[in-house]
Amino acid sequence: MAAVVLFDIDGTLIGLGTDVHRAAFAHAFREVYGVEASLDGIRAAGRTDTWLLFEPLRELGMTDREIAARLREAFAAMCSYVDVHLGDLQDRVLPGVRELLKELDARGAVVGLLTGNLEAIALAKMRKAGLDGCFEFGAFGEESATRSELVLVALRKASLVVGEAVLPGRTVVVGDTPLDVEAAQVHGVRSCAVASGPFDEIELREAGADVVLASLEPWDESADAILGLVP
Ligand SMILES: [Mg+2]
Repeated sequence: MAAVVLFDIDGTLIGLGTDVHRAAFAHAFREVYGVEASLDGIRAAGRTDTWLLFEPLRELGMTDREIAARLREAFAAMCSYVDVHLGDLQDRVLPGVRELLKELDARGAVVGLLTGNLEAIALAKMRKAGLDGCFEFGAFGEESATRSELVLVALRKASLVVGEAVLPGRTVVVGDTPLDVEAAQVHGVRSCAVASGPFDEIELREAGADVVLASLEPWDESADAILGLVP
């Protein structure tokens, strides 16, 4: 069976600094829920967009039921906000990423996205960064509030691409936060953590990542490290 590699987006493939994405939340809070709220003070890295939408509203005293009732509408508002502000999306592809994706493909790996971003926002970011077309499938932020459940979604979608059941032990999550590592571990998926986001190598090692890299550059060494986890 082919190895499956699942990439996080923010802080892993592209640089952090997704102001448009954060502003999209504030837009949805205002337009859909009628409240002034933001992600200020919330550690967003590694979280799903569903979780990030619920959390500030819960703090304002809204019930999960009230929030969920307008969730689809809120997601649609976020996606159209990003669509209007596409020009401001982060497009800094991190060092080694383009070459690594080509190399994994050349070595026969099946490569997908595993991100907390809503699908339309994830795909817009990938288009902006010129990385669209590099991924065969993806698990996205509207499919669950928790990252570990997104791992199950990704395994299921990978199985459809591969045409047989994908084994967790033949799968690697590549991400930049302890939440990426934890989500992989829960399901017996291997993890490669990259210190290109808000966490340093020590923190990622302490989180229990199978491999910790300072950067995805040099890309050939990264490819060896990632595929070395699923020989
Ligand atoms: Mg990330």
